[in-house]
Amino acid sequence: MSRIDYQINYDYIKDLISYLENEHTLSKENLVILLKSEYTDEICQAADRVRKKFVGDVVHLRGLIEISNYCCRTCYYCGLRVYNKSIKRYRMDENEILQCAKATKDAGLKTVVLQGGEDKHFKIKDLCNIVEKIKDLDLSITLSIGELTTKEYADLKKAGADRYLLRIETTNKDLYKKLHPNMSFDNRVRCLIDLKELGYEVGTGCLIGLPGQTSDMLAEDILFFKNIDADMIGMGPFIPTPNTPLENEKGGNVEIVLKMLALTRLLLPDINMPATTALGVKADNGYIKGLRAGANVIMPNMGLNEYKKLYALYPGKTSDDGSKVVNDLENIRKLIISENRIIGHEKGDRKKIWKNPG
Ligand code: SAH
Repeated sequence: MSRIDYQINYDYIKDLISYLENEHTLSKENLVILLKSEYTDEICQAADRVRKKFVGDVVHLRGLIEISNYCCRTCYYCGLRVYNKSIKRYRMDENEILQCAKATKDAGLKTVVLQGGEDKHFKIKDLCNIVEKIKDLDLSITLSIGELTTKEYADLKKAGADRYLLRIETTNKDLYKKLHPNMSFDNRVRCLIDLKELGYEVGTGCLIGLPGQTSDMLAEDILFFKNIDADMIGMGPFIPTPNTPLENEKGGNVEIVLKMLALTRLLLPDINMPATTALGVKADNGYIKGLRAGANVIMPNMGLNEYKKLYALYPGKTSDDGSKVVNDLENIRKLIISENRIIGHEKGDRKKIWKNPG
């Protein structure tokens, strides 16, 4: 490339970044240019400024409790898929979940996230009971237990659930179909719309670096998040998992994950966005890189030690004996302070200060 081409190119990129930073909107074509560009640092720095301006220096901690690793689904990338016979399955009982919720409160956190595979043995009535009891502890409750019926979402909301995480995983229908046999993209979108209408704070997101995924598809993912006005976005690199159909594929690229986080912050300036565990696993200093690319949330693992290594969505979340986890609360606190950021002590709802023109 000649010097002049380089100049035009870099000037064009700089213009795009500054337009995004001021207007929080961009065409798909220009998003693709940024996703393919080598200017990760410049994009992340702009996202960091927008993060500071709209959501400040506070990093919210959400205590993650992995309640069951039983799952009836067949997602090609996930270690919990029903056909993975090599993992030992567990399901926490009510007492264990409440014990973890109390420990989360005692540690000073204000949110618990109950996450699990799609475990049909968990009855919604029992879950509602658990939600009610956790509410008595004055904690915010986020659920992440997959696709349910409208009525089930409504019952859980009535019981006191505040937020729901359900990643769309990819918005490309063909890719979705390939990776999720016997599942329906349209039903997943229906779930997200139901959750919004029921008044949940809604989180979605995607996997980055799936086999067959292009920059075009990733740009469309970001525009989808904006379109449904998501309150929270979780994204991380795809990490190949043993005993799944994608075990021999290449994993997601960290630079692209950082550009995705940064572009999402630039387009949706006031959302809550975690530096995810998968990024922490995949990259050296992954949490710090995420916090510098627009993230303002981290989810420490507040579950029981005996189960942590069994919740094996992908490898590397725990040490082999399960005694150490990547998302350990004390480590996370230290790194937030080392970054001169502030540990959140509030519930940390989304404060909508920017009107999304849609
Ligand atoms: N059953 C719930 C929770 C799924 S687990 C649901 O359907 O929403 C939470 C997230 O882990 C998934 O949404 C997926 O994006 C991510 N995940 C699963 N397998 C992964 C892998 N191999 N690499 C990286 N992330 C993965």
